Amino acid sequence: MIPIPIPWLVFAALIVFLAGIFFVWICYEIARKRHAANDRKDLIQCHLCTRKFTAEKLVSLPLCPNCGSPNEHIPPRFF
Ligand SMILES: [Zn+2]
Repeated sequence: MIPIPIPWLVFAALIVFLAGIFFVWICYEIARKRHAANDRKDLIQCHLCTRKFTAEKLVSLPLCPNCGSPNEHIPPRFF
């Protein structure tokens, strides 16, 4: 058996624990960004009144429910 001092054992356990938390965090962020991208796919921002609304891809120029202006299927930017 390899002799390991107690501080090194605690340090190794801490590193493994933090690596696990970091891995779960990264996986959660990837899943969250994919879900947010799917939610924004059908979202349209009106170029006149800047109101966001959803419309199906079947309609070529969906009308804004607020001002009635026709809009193209350009999803709004995230930032
Ligand atoms: Zn509008």
